Amino acid sequence: MRPKILEPLYYNIQNISGIGPYYTSLIKNLVGDRYKDILLHMPTSSIKRKIINNVLESQINQKIIFTGIITSTWTTYKKPRMSIATVKFKETNISIIYFNVKKIWFEGLFKKGNELAISGTLQKRNSKYQIVHPDYVENNIKTRIPLFETLYPLTKGLNKNKLSSVIQKVINVLPSFEEWIDLKLIKSKKWPKFDEAIKSIHFPRNQKSLDQYPIFLERLAYDEALSRQLALNLIRVHKRKKIKKAKNSKAFLRKKLSSLLPFKLTKSQNNVLLDIYKDLNSNEKMSRLIQGDVGSGKTIVAFFSLLYVVESGYQGALMVPTEILSQQHYNFFKKYSDGLGIKIELLIGKEKNLKKQKILSKVSNGLVDIIIGTHAIIQKNVKFKNLGLVVIDEQHRFGVYQRLALLQKSPDADFMVMTATPIPRTLILTNYGDMDLSIMNEKPLNRPLIKTITVNNNKINDVISSISNSLKNGEQVFWVCPLVQESENIDLIAVETRAKSLNNYFPNQISIIHGKMSYEEKENNLNQFIKSQKPILVSTTVIEVGIDIPKANIMIIEHAERFGLSQLHQLRGRIGRGMKDSICILLYDKKLSNVAKNRLTTMKNTNDGFLISEKDLELRGPGELLGTRQSGEQSFRILDLNTHKDLVEIANNEAKLISNKNPKLLGSQGSALKNLLYLFDQDKAVELIKIG
Ligand code: ADP
Ligand code: MG
Repeated sequence: MRPKILEPLYYNIQNISGIGPYYTSLIKNLVGDRYKDILLHMPTSSIKRKIINNVLESQINQKIIFTGIITSTWTTYKKPRMSIATVKFKETNISIIYFNVKKIWFEGLFKKGNELAISGTLQKRNSKYQIVHPDYVENNIKTRIPLFETLYPLTKGLNKNKLSSVIQKVINVLPSFEEWIDLKLIKSKKWPKFDEAIKSIHFPRNQKSLDQYPIFLERLAYDEALSRQLALNLIRVHKRKKIKKAKNSKAFLRKKLSSLLPFKLTKSQNNVLLDIYKDLNSNEKMSRLIQGDVGSGKTIVAFFSLLYVVESGYQGALMVPTEILSQQHYNFFKKYSDGLGIKIELLIGKEKNLKKQKILSKVSNGLVDIIIGTHAIIQKNVKFKNLGLVVIDEQHRFGVYQRLALLQKSPDADFMVMTATPIPRTLILTNYGDMDLSIMNEKPLNRPLIKTITVNNNKINDVISSISNSLKNGEQVFWVCPLVQESENIDLIAVETRAKSLNNYFPNQISIIHGKMSYEEKENNLNQFIKSQKPILVSTTVIEVGIDIPKANIMIIEHAERFGLSQLHQLRGRIGRGMKDSICILLYDKKLSNVAKNRLTTMKNTNDGFLISEKDLELRGPGELLGTRQSGEQSFRILDLNTHKDLVEIANNEAKLISNKNPKLLGSQGSALKNLLYLFDQDKAVELIKIG
């Protein structure tokens, strides 16, 4: 249950007087509608005002506060309608100017002979002083006009004063919490208490609080990092505590497979497999992330792992994001399964046909050893006889709690995820901190060179004539058309148009695939490419993940400037897999933004996916890198993964310590930390601890 002290922070702002449903819905869309959402909505800049005793040239463009007497008012009739009040301040006249305000409101506020306190930016025009749309017009300086004020991201219909009034109300009920951060760290960083940081950031009292803003913000960013790392580490410990039967295995199938393979495993592949076998052979459930660059050979690692559980008398499942990829993996496994004497099946699509029913019943009767497919294989209607391992390949969109749910579903199943592309360490910590990590940092030997060049789009004809030479040498080409918009229909046009124009040069040599095709069509067209009947494949990014056609050695990416770095790296990863030296041609439009230039240069300079992923985080931000922008899985309110990398590391170490020493969050330290988890909406972890 939620600690009582947090109750006020869960109140809804709708009950604040002067807010009501209209403003509530505006604020809700901006940040949320609970008190704590408001507290954690950070300002982006601040204003400093100065009370002045007389007008000086040096105050022009500064925010000033003064009191003066209204000497005249008038409103123009032509548009834009101006309402002007002249205010006498000492010996100077200052015009207060509004555009298009209600006359009745203006005349009610500015009455000739009244004394008013006014604040705004002083300007000089035609040697006269003026303030356009003042920030404050009050009867008394002391009562309302703040000397220091913060500005927030706003939304249409919501002004600063309205939001500030809500923040003030919320801060009034902010409790003082027991400290959850290690005191030594607090001291060394000179951080204030949580409530002090919040108060001072929203309502800075003096110059000193303004100056301390970065330190105060850093404390809150750390709080957010710690809450996330603690939640993930608690889940990790909790998962490990799930007891299962250790899987013992005699390695006869794996030995056989090694003898059948045309290559030897790399050192990296062997090391990762040792991690995996150790987990499978333990009483604790495996939950492991395998990180390897494109082409490092993850599929075969999955195969060996699945064989291990088959040898131990269990079934295994390999889940991939697309049907095309399922088919490819199935074909690869099929090459060896007969020799190994194991049964594998492919399960794709939603069709409720007889064949599918037959496969499902075989799976439930234990007549299938390994099942390969899309997420169809983890649906409710798929009952396993004794599932021992789930391998998820190239699947980023699976969040922490989805992974947990999957793991809890089958009592004896271990669980591993293979990432499509390297992920920077900070993102590993914030998004996969619930898993153990194995890294494959080596590619199979004798891989051919991949050269990357950038070519201006207006030289596309040169590219076409060079292709024509390559085709004569029996080479094969991927031609990728960009996402025009988030619309498959428009992509399809790009692909068809390009295929048509290339067809003029290379009649009957072009195959196409895009997302709008039926599975059969895709498979058929891809096969024509694989069998070299048609040596050019024009496609959308559907070929981005996992496709393995070692023969193809030329990759052309149109409008490469529109792609993100990790995506370009993934696409380029489709070549350089066979014997022939490979070339990646990035076609770009001449109107290049700086970021796009930076990306293309990075692509030219390096093939190292780990390096590229760091750069991508820097240029694009975490949401797009992980494809989680829509899922909302790891969006942080305060923490910035680029500037606060070190905080994430510190938080992770701290969270590891806590989750090992005090996994149930007992005692006073524990209850302080629970408050933190609730504050930053990581409380699902708290529920888990109780179950566990
Ligand atoms: P990833 O999924 O990591 O991008 P794949 O598993 O598709 O890479 O492997 C890429 C290619 O390398 C495949 O054709 C695969 O058969 C081959 N391969 C895998 N391991 C080795 C190895 N140790 N030596 C040579 N080739 C390998
Ligand atoms: Mg792969």
